[in-house]
Amino acid sequence: METILCNNPTDIEITVPLLVGLQKKQEATIVKVNGIEVGGSEVIIIAGPCAVESMEQLFETVRSVKTDGAKILRGGAFKPRSSPYSFQGLGEEGLKLLRQIRKESGLPVVTEAMDTRQVELVAEYADMIQVGSRNMQNYPLLKEVGMCGKPVLLKRGMMATIEEFLHSAEYILKQGNEQVILCERGIRTFETSTRNTLDLSAVPMLKHLSHLPVIVDPSHGTGLRWMVPVMAKAAVAAGADGLIMEVHYKPEAALCDGKQSLNPDEFANLMHELRKIAKAVGREIS
Ligand code: PEP
Ligand code: MN
Repeated sequence: METILCNNPTDIEITVPLLVGLQKKQEATIVKVNGIEVGGSEVIIIAGPCAVESMEQLFETVRSVKTDGAKILRGGAFKPRSSPYSFQGLGEEGLKLLRQIRKESGLPVVTEAMDTRQVELVAEYADMIQVGSRNMQNYPLLKEVGMCGKPVLLKRGMMATIEEFLHSAEYILKQGNEQVILCERGIRTFETSTRNTLDLSAVPMLKHLSHLPVIVDPSHGTGLRWMVPVMAKAAVAAGADGLIMEVHYKPEAALCDGKQSLNPDEFANLMHELRKIAKAVGREIS
């Protein structure tokens, strides 16, 4: 058996797998996304639209988030949508637009692969591969991204426990890829006023149990644009190593998740406030 009982100085009775746990490795892992370090003293902000829609949308959105201090760009080319009739993403065309904006902006990009058959293609275009919430327990996909040679952003399954989340990360590390960022993005509870229940206690818990960096997605975690800033600040105060947030140059016209996307002005204001929070907890945002 490669799992061990958590034997950190703790009374938490869950099983923490060997490679993600602190038994073998105590120092924090720093994930390098084309030169951007996640897990160090700087809190890294990842921003961009939910879905890649057009060059104009990417260009206008990226221009402002870059100015305000985003270090990595996000944008889905392959979108996991609840309805098969909703916009499914531009596919490889979207990856090409991401490659173009990556070149023009000089910022690395993260985008999702939903299927083992997409991993090789996505890895050609992206600096980091996202495994989405719905795929956290897609074990063949976890193994595939573990072998792809790129950092992986692993989102917590919306119905996954911390123990299951860590075991999913273990699949990736077991393939020899230690470049994994854990992302809390909200879980399903009985609450319906928010899209998900953002479990900010996951941040200190994951950091207590693992050496991997932990970031938070307050966009999917709340589903509400007005709530994103306050939860983003709370996440940084709770010790998150970064944030991933949806920003759209015209949220009301977004093809996907406009209701939870910040506009450029809201993002700029938030970045200003986040710098103060980061400083107050001994971190920085440059
Ligand atoms: C996303 O970040 O684009 C996304 C679909 O998020 P999640 O997998 O957390 O729902
Ligand atoms: Mn989205």
